[in-house]
Amino acid sequence: MNRPKTADERATPMMAQYLAIKRAHPDCLLFYRMGDFYELFFDDAVAAAGALDITLTRRGKHDGADVPMCGVPVHAGDSYLERLIRKGFKVAICEQVEDPAAARKRGPKALVRREAVRVVTPGTLTEDTLLDARRHNYLAAVSRAGDDLALAWLDISTGEFCVQPVAAEGLAAELARLQPGELLVSENLLQQPALYELFAEWKAALSPQPASRFDSAAGARRLKSLYDVGALDGFGEFGRAELGACGALVAYVELTQKGRLPRLGPPRVVARGATMAIDAATRRNLELVDSLSGERGASLLGVIDRTVTGAGARLLAAYLAAPLTDPAAIDRRLDAVAYFVAEARLREALCERLRRCPDVERALARLTVGRGGPRDLAAVRDALAQAAEIRGLLAEPDQGPPDAVAEIDRDLGRHDPLVDRLGRALLPDLPLLARDGGFIAPGYAPDLDELVTLRDESRRLIAGLQQRYRDDTGIAALKVRHNNVLGYYVEVTPKHADKLEDPFIHRQTLASAVRFTTVELGELESKISRAAERALAVEIKLFDDLVGEVAARADDIARAARALARLDLARGLAELAVERNYTRPVVDDSLAFEVRGGRHPVVEVLAPGGEAGSFVPNDCDLGRERRLWLVTGPNMAGKSTFLRQNALIAILAQMGGFVPAEAARIGVVDRLFSRVGAADDLARGRSTFMVEMVETAAILNQAGERALVILDEIGRGTATFDGLSIAWATVEQLHEVNRCRTLFATHYHELTALAAKLAALACHSMRVKEWRDDVVFLYEVAPGASDRAYGIHVARHAGLPPAVIARAEEVLATLEHGEQSGDLARLAHDLPLFSAAPAPDKPGPSPLDEAFADVRPDELTPRDALELLYRLKLLADGDS
Ligand code: ADP
Ligand code: MG
Repeated sequence: MNRPKTADERATPMMAQYLAIKRAHPDCLLFYRMGDFYELFFDDAVAAAGALDITLTRRGKHDGADVPMCGVPVHAGDSYLERLIRKGFKVAICEQVEDPAAARKRGPKALVRREAVRVVTPGTLTEDTLLDARRHNYLAAVSRAGDDLALAWLDISTGEFCVQPVAAEGLAAELARLQPGELLVSENLLQQPALYELFAEWKAALSPQPASRFDSAAGARRLKSLYDVGALDGFGEFGRAELGACGALVAYVELTQKGRLPRLGPPRVVARGATMAIDAATRRNLELVDSLSGERGASLLGVIDRTVTGAGARLLAAYLAAPLTDPAAIDRRLDAVAYFVAEARLREALCERLRRCPDVERALARLTVGRGGPRDLAAVRDALAQAAEIRGLLAEPDQGPPDAVAEIDRDLGRHDPLVDRLGRALLPDLPLLARDGGFIAPGYAPDLDELVTLRDESRRLIAGLQQRYRDDTGIAALKVRHNNVLGYYVEVTPKHADKLEDPFIHRQTLASAVRFTTVELGELESKISRAAERALAVEIKLFDDLVGEVAARADDIARAARALARLDLARGLAELAVERNYTRPVVDDSLAFEVRGGRHPVVEVLAPGGEAGSFVPNDCDLGRERRLWLVTGPNMAGKSTFLRQNALIAILAQMGGFVPAEAARIGVVDRLFSRVGAADDLARGRSTFMVEMVETAAILNQAGERALVILDEIGRGTATFDGLSIAWATVEQLHEVNRCRTLFATHYHELTALAAKLAALACHSMRVKEWRDDVVFLYEVAPGASDRAYGIHVARHAGLPPAVIARAEEVLATLEHGEQSGDLARLAHDLPLFSAAPAPDKPGPSPLDEAFADVRPDELTPRDALELLYRLKLLADGDS
């Protein structure tokens, strides 16, 4: 029976091994270890060569065709990995899992065993080279059970693990908060039309998973076995959706780490509504983490970050992304900041200590997942040693610390035996990898010292041999040398070669040298290499023991690491408060929003040409009776700045930081919305009037009494009457139905007419001073409406030609005197060039004039006004 062989059967043994491993990792590029290289074959090679811009070659044939191949050197593997991960690839790393020598023992052609030891994906990175030290990198999962949705996330590099029930409408905001590097979603959920659009936004991070991984019963089992508990109640209340999401995360980590789980803290259940909901557009618009121009420095985070550790910076970013809604919890954080504001000496001393703390969270994660090295042990040692010093510092002030600081102090814990042990064990200069050896200090392990002595003794003996051989042979130029091919050998120049006989055994003749060995040399050499081999084995064993010891205390170490981060964060916020003159806000359950002398934290620092102190502070009071402020004023007068500064103050206050103001009292904000009219936002190249309206709709549908809404020039993206009517109706809705605290900037001063009807609407305007035909912006927010737009003044500043400015003033004057359509028509004829031409006869009243004649603005209901606007619009369009 001659069945034709399949391609696999015809493949070489190596190719067959490759294909089998590749088949198990279809969605990954396979890095296949060959000696000092990782090689990629077939489509992987083509994709990687393109992505990395490296040469694509061929290696042999498979199934009759050339096999495309490319390779990257192992020692530079991380940098190539980084580039591939950034480009959205996943990479399976396949290593040789036995010594090639061991394979040769099975037969001359036996294949070295290889296995995929890890799958590198964007959400499961642990290497410092692949991670941003100051940002979290989250792996997230969304799961659905019945009608419930849950979102779980973890940072494998720090062990943080959280889960939260979410409503479908809230999911986008939560994802915007987390910015996950990778998002696991079941294939079923991906088919949900309602979620299409959301998942499309996260396309680059999406990792579709089989639905079975989200099974809640399996999830519960996984969690129980991971934490070795009989029931999960101790961790919080898990619904089925939460179990599914957590289980999917754990399963994925197991899968990518090939069974080696890093230390993961028990999942923390975050209650719905525990944090301020801030959607993606608002985050972008307020430039919380990145500025619209993409510069991190010009964002709120960039300006307030005074942390000196990576973990502190990550925690700050997490706090900023998720301001709290519980006044008591906020107060605890504020207490800590206030304490460090008061204790200047302590603050500075802590800063010095914290600066010397390595990133122990990430070192711990690498050690527990089996990818750590001697330097990670040193990081644990150094951070814990600093923690002990810090506890000493915290005990110094007379004033007892507030609860939050006392808790940090407790969490830092005591680790003296471990620090001491690591201190004795490790040399000052450490190799990256344990397998390089040479990291255990002398005196720590007697058996290792013995082997090292043996090795060094033999080396000394070899050095001694050179002199003896010189004396014996009378050849002064005889040398004992070493290379990797021959090992130790005796070398003489060719003219002396004949003089060497027994015990010298010829090994190699070169043009300039002849090389010999001796039995004695060979014996010493094998002694050295045996000793070195055994020393390395002992070192690795000691390393594993130390790692074991660290792993056994992993929870305590992680708690200390977290405490260091909290300390750095509180200390940094205090430093910021002192440096930039921020004050402690009052956050309570009221609906107050009172800011006295508020400033924009970023503009006050970065305003172009804005020397320190030139920023003009402004008050804002959105109490019940005036919860909707309509802010008018010319372009460039500071409206947007004022609006945003109040939103930022709310965020800073609720994340537990001091605020740039003289005083602030804020009734907890549960949702924050900030929108800019399309015309203001064109730079992003994305905003269209449609987007603006979709976003406005979201606000009108979602904002409740506790929301804070910032609307900046909504309705600009369409024709004037259109825009005005939308803005008008939106203000009414916010005032009457949403009843939320609102700041509404507009250039439609017509809207100020609403003040007469809407009780809680207060008109404010940006003060300007007219001075010699010009305007000066005072940046002061004053009660009352502004009467003019001053656009022409801005145009003059911008350098429009004087003739154009003069003409614009002329047109404006005509319009302002009640637009007689005839006047406009005349103006249109009356181009400056022909201004000497006679004016045509004055026509009678236009249909628009007639429509206006009977209007009494004060008597209009909002609805009438809207009707009127539609009518006017029709007339203006000439459809009467
Ligand atoms: P608008 O939205 O009214 O057009 P912006 O808020 O964009 O004005 O402000 C324009 C510029 O004015 C800002 O970039 C800033 O440089 C400056 N500015 C705004 N507010 C203040 C202030 N309170 N004090 C000092 N300068 C300010
Ligand atoms: Mg503006």
